[in-house]
Amino acid sequence: MTRTLSLLGATGSIGASTLDLVRRNRGEWRVVALTANCNVADLAALAKEFAAEIAVVGDEACLPELREALSSSGIEAAGGAQALCEAAARGADLTVAAIVGCAGLAPTMAAVEQGGTIALANKEALVAAGDVLMAAVERHGATLLPTDSEHNAIFQCLQGGKLDQVEKITLTASGGPFREWSAEQLAQATPAQAVKHPNWSMGAKISVDSATMMNKGLEFIEAWHLFPVGLDRLGIVVHPQSVIHSMVEYRDGSTLAQLGPSDMRVPIASCLAWPERMETPCERLDLPKLGQLTFFEPDEARFPATRLAREAAHAGGAAPAVLNAANEVAVAAFLAGKIGFTRIALTVEESLSRSLPPAPATLEEVLAVDSEARVKAAQLLEFA
Ligand code: NDP
Repeated sequence: MTRTLSLLGATGSIGASTLDLVRRNRGEWRVVALTANCNVADLAALAKEFAAEIAVVGDEACLPELREALSSSGIEAAGGAQALCEAAARGADLTVAAIVGCAGLAPTMAAVEQGGTIALANKEALVAAGDVLMAAVERHGATLLPTDSEHNAIFQCLQGGKLDQVEKITLTASGGPFREWSAEQLAQATPAQAVKHPNWSMGAKISVDSATMMNKGLEFIEAWHLFPVGLDRLGIVVHPQSVIHSMVEYRDGSTLAQLGPSDMRVPIASCLAWPERMETPCERLDLPKLGQLTFFEPDEARFPATRLAREAAHAGGAAPAVLNAANEVAVAAFLAGKIGFTRIALTVEESLSRSLPPAPATLEEVLAVDSEARVKAAQLLEFA
């Protein structure tokens, strides 16, 4: 049976992994919408390859180029933030939400409002708008399938029990490329070094988040929304091999863990096939070859981001949205060579220490908190 698929963020790393799996099972899917920001060449090529109904660029200035690239293909072209939401609102059996950053929030919400199934990779949306997004999922009867490897692991481990039987959920963290770097070395870290993740191949923003450990902080907040067991039952352990993707410990002392290769096609396949399983071409684990799996406590002195995320979760209200916005601004400034690596967490901390706006209760209010926090974080950096 053919199912319909929309892929928000088709030209990114998650987009490529998703389309690799779809390509191998071509007959099972009909593609509705594919989106990008401004990577017109790749988006148009993918839209033609997968015979999408519509291709959308988030940046409206790139629409004329997209129209040109798709002329006489019969594929609709659209551009702008509103067009992303309209494409997501066409509805599909499965929508993969893989735009990077809070820019993915409104289109994800538009898909949620259709009440379909959403494979959620975009973590910033859930961090910024956790309460609002989860309430919309409930209200519209949508199904959220966590795609991030850690949350997908927890989701799988929870098939073996119930939330009220959970003693503790432990997110594993690779520790990133700078796990063993001293504070002095971290101060000198460059964007090129930060995006070189030891285990995973990912987009630039999430790679920097992994290097600062903010990625784990964002995941901590995501887990709090996805698996409401209470903040005191959520933990983080550094596990450099990235073989165990996360664990659930039950009241009786049993711990269930999900293991797999460091290949996002595994959790994505679990979402594409859910509630079934599908074949993937991914390398299989060879445990004797791996030899050992090691675990460490996170070092929050060198990597304060997990502490900041925990504090933002405890504070609740607007704090997670402010943390996310300040982090997005600081990571972009770091990638542009404008600030040093350690300034990223400092910017987040300074942003959180200011008086925060009231808790946002609607999508529009979340977006307003996000915009204001971006302006303030940018001001902090200009006066740094
Ligand atoms: P990439 O940077 O590789 O891709 C981002 C995608 O979003 C691209 O299609 C890009 O289009 C599009 N995009 C960027 N900005 C905008 C915008 N303003 N409006 C509309 N579209 C936009 O990111 P990843 O694939 O690595 O990550 C995507 C999301 O998934 C992130 O939230 C990340 O944290 C999360 N994630 C990623 C994992 C990974 O392994 N990569 C693992 C777990 C979660 P264009 O190409 O035109 O710029």
